[in-house]
Order: sequence, then structure tokens, then C-alpha cells
Amino acid sequence: MGLEAAITAEGFMTTQLKRVINWGRRSSLWPMPFATACCGIELMATASSRYDLARFGAEVMRFSPRQADLMIVAGRISIKTMPVLQRIYQQMAEPKWVISMGACASTGGVFDTYAVVQGCDQFLPVDVYVPGCPPRPEQLIEGVMAIQRIIDEDGIPPKGPDGKRIPLGIALQPKRQPVPQPMPLTLN
Ligand code: SF4
Repeated sequence: MGLEAAITAEGFMTTQLKRVINWGRRSSLWPMPFATACCGIELMATASSRYDLARFGAEVMRFSPRQADLMIVAGRISIKTMPVLQRIYQQMAEPKWVISMGACASTGGVFDTYAVVQGCDQFLPVDVYVPGCPPRPEQLIEGVMAIQRIIDEDGIPPKGPDGKRIPLGIALQPKRQPVPQPMPLTLN
């Protein structure tokens, strides 16, 4: 990881304990995938060899909330599912973070119905919103990197005077530039 080059055989380096802890935390995020719909497929693709979430140390998906510290909500959440999502979030280890992936998780998407929660941020402290329907894996990776930057700077999630978690509410901007169609396309 470059440390061998930085530290020679007889050398040493000094740093702050806080920086080492933050470095460890940001390099070993363990996501809790809460995938309920098609966004979950992109979430799976993000961990695949093509996009390789392991490059960011966040590929160890845990299906046990007590081993996870990054909730990724991918897909629409129904009224019936919401208590389950909340319970899983409560059982996750501190410090913990939340990514809302895709239009459905963030706003209910096109499902403006009585059965669908119109944004999981009504019940969870969402730190990063990843736009798209579905977001591409690169965008989800950008969301993970946003969490990593916060950990680098602050270390732990902010809490209010009442002890309640303050959501960071960072909205990623789509960065993808449209490219021209590589082959002429004819429709019959
Ligand atoms: S945002 Fe789009 S891709 Fe994601 S769950 Fe909703 S409908 Fe599916």
C-alpha cells in the first residue's frame, strides 16, 4: 500500500491517533445492502470484478447488521418494510452511515402510492443521496467515496444536543456526460 516505500527498514513515522483510526474506518466500510428492487442489481454490479468496490475497501457486504456500518438503501421501501429497515439500522454498529441509492429510495420514484414510502429520509438519517434510476455503479462508488471523505475530515457522524443523529444530506450531482451513438441506429 505504499507504506513499505514510505518507511525504510530503520525508519519510523509519526501521526495522530485520530488520523490512524479514521484511515482504518474509511478503508474498511462494511455495507449492509438493503436492496428491494432493481437498484439492487446495480449494487451487485458495483461489487463485481468490473467495478471492483474492493478498491475502496467496501466490498465486504454483511447481511448481519451488527457487523455493518454503512447502510445502502437500494430500491423502493414499502410502508410494511419500513419498520424492518429501521430495526436493521438500529442494530448496526456505531459509527454508522446511510446512503440512499436511486430515485425510489430517495423520493419514492414514480411510485407515488399509499403503499410506498416517499423517501427513506423520513425515517432514516440519510448522509448521501445517489441520483439515478438506477444509478450506475460509478455513481454509487462516488457515494461511498463521499462517505470516506467525511470520515477523513470528521471521523464520526454528527449528533444533536438531544443525542439524535444529524443527517448530512449530501446530494451527489450526476457527472456522466452523454456520448454520441457509436453506430448508426435505424429503427424499422
Ligand atoms: S430508482 Fe429506478 S432502478 Fe432504482 S429501484 Fe427505483 S425504479 Fe428501480
